[in-house]
Amino acid sequence: MNDCIFCKIVDGVIPSKKVYEDESVFAFYDIAPHAPIHVLVIPKSHIGSADEINIDNSSIISRIFEVIPKIAKLAGITNGYRIISNCGPDACQTVKHLHFHILGGKTMKEKLI
Ligand code: 5GP
Ligand code: ZN
Repeated sequence: MNDCIFCKIVDGVIPSKKVYEDESVFAFYDIAPHAPIHVLVIPKSHIGSADEINIDNSSIISRIFEVIPKIAKLAGITNGYRIISNCGPDACQTVKHLHFHILGGKTMKEKLI
């Protein structure tokens, strides 16, 4: 049994506030937003983190980045956004299903890098 909460969100077992869905990508509002608009974009198929991207599954990454502009618009972001993917323990990744945070709706004060 797959215990991954984001797989359960894709399957509708755990409810979410959906922003966008297609055959391979799902986007929904973060339950604990860190910005006025905070959306998570995930592949529907389970990939643990960016550290598990390889030649066999990497096409989903270009697909995700193709649809991020549409997702940002659907979420009401009009003036730019930050994309973050935490990967592994030192980056404090808490959900072990690859996800991209899309943060917008305010001018962010600090850059992480
Ligand atoms: P991470 O810390 O792994 O980069 O980000 C995980 C994100 O998932 C966090 O921002 C957290 O608020 C969000 N999250 C965790 N559980 C749920 C949930 O059940 N529903 C939604 N919508 N977001 C969740
Ligand atoms: Zn998963």
